[in-house]
Amino acid sequence: MNNILIIGGGLAGLTSAILLQQNGFEVSVFEKKKYPFHRVCGEYISNEVLQFLESLNFGISESGYSTINRLEVSSVSGKILKAELPSGGFGLSRFKLDHLLYQRAKSLGVTFIFEKVDHINFQDDKFRITIPGKGEYESAIAIAAYGKRSNLDQKLNRSFFYRRSPYLGVKYHIRTELAENLIRLDNFQGGYSGVSRIEDEKFCLCYLSETANLKKYSGIAEMEEQVLFKNPRLKSLFRNSEFLFENPIVINEISFAKKTLTENHLLFCGDSAGMITPLCGNGMAIAIHSGKILADSIISHVKKDSELNRLALENDYKLRWEKQFSLRLQSGRLIQKLFGSTLVSDLTVSVLGKLPTLTQKLVKKTHGDTLMY
Ligand SMILES: Cc1cc2nc3c(=O)[nH]c(=O)nc-3n(C[C@H](O)[C@H](O)[C@H](O)COP(=O)(O)OP(=O)(O)OC[C@H]3O[C@@H](n4cnc5c(N)ncnc54)[C@H](O)[C@@H]3O)c2cc1C
Repeated sequence: MNNILIIGGGLAGLTSAILLQQNGFEVSVFEKKKYPFHRVCGEYISNEVLQFLESLNFGISESGYSTINRLEVSSVSGKILKAELPSGGFGLSRFKLDHLLYQRAKSLGVTFIFEKVDHINFQDDKFRITIPGKGEYESAIAIAAYGKRSNLDQKLNRSFFYRRSPYLGVKYHIRTELAENLIRLDNFQGGYSGVSRIEDEKFCLCYLSETANLKKYSGIAEMEEQVLFKNPRLKSLFRNSEFLFENPIVINEISFAKKTLTENHLLFCGDSAGMITPLCGNGMAIAIHSGKILADSIISHVKKDSELNRLALENDYKLRWEKQFSLRLQSGRLIQKLFGSTLVSDLTVSVLGKLPTLTQKLVKKTHGDTLMY
């Protein structure tokens, strides 16, 4: 009973894999891409997970991350709100962070199978994954950590898959003249962009937009000119930066809908269990935290050579997850409504500018307490 299959080697999957392998399980991770690789993500990580990441011993302290403790938000028309980020965060590319975690997991003995999983079958109390030409993998426990949306969601008939997901995400790495301890959020009609520093004096520039924006124009570049550049701050940022990728990285169909935590005994964590709006800047912290909660539940419920009580394990995980995250995800959906249109974002920025205590409360609502290890 002590082997575990994990589908998806992002932050949630890698965190679970490391903790479970360290606790005597034999973990196999299925990942469809080869590390290191870029992902659409703002790459601002809330400090709540920093100590925990240090405890995983994969070299986070030497990674060259930047320290971020100031926030500036501009409304669609360019009105500006400035605030301190009391708990703050750090900036590190996913290219580097995921690769470092992968190397740590590998050094602990986690097996990596670089293939896309197209099907997972549960029968006779066992999960089975077949990779044509590679073999059949079997385990009593399987974790789905495959991110916000995957082919498997359709196969598993998850209801959120059939609801509209009208957002797209775009990301660049740039060199620019901005303070290194600042995260800047700039709103535009139907979306918002974040820019903050990562390692090697680079910045990550990433935005979320309603898909409807893109449909009106011939492509990303024209949409940026016509929609994003209405915010003078964004226009100036794009005009005065050096873009380091040949093309932007783009993803579609981003959903913030409520999701299930288990499906036919498959255990979900990270974005596949629920995604917070990127505006809150802590999807990564939640992915890492949920990977840890799930590993903790498995470690405390799966005892070697004794029978697996699935119900107890699933209930324990659901209880822990709801306690930590359901309020934060709800707050994220609410905060997203405060931005994105000219009128509402102008009003929000003006009101919050006069009420620093309320601003701090809003930031606090989406951030969690320090994750202990
Ligand atoms: C536009 C945007 C900006 C964001 N900005 C931030 C930010 O600044 N700060 C922050 O904290 N969060 C941010 N987030 C959220 C953050 O990126 C996610 O919450 C986080 O990446 C979730 O981690 P995860 O491990 O659940 O999924 P992922 O990191 O997406 O990993 C899932 C993995 O599963 C693999 N996979 C998928 N399907 C299969 C399959 N069938 N077989 C095998 N492998 C598979 C994928 O290749 C991937 O590697 C942002 C998100 C978006 C969309």
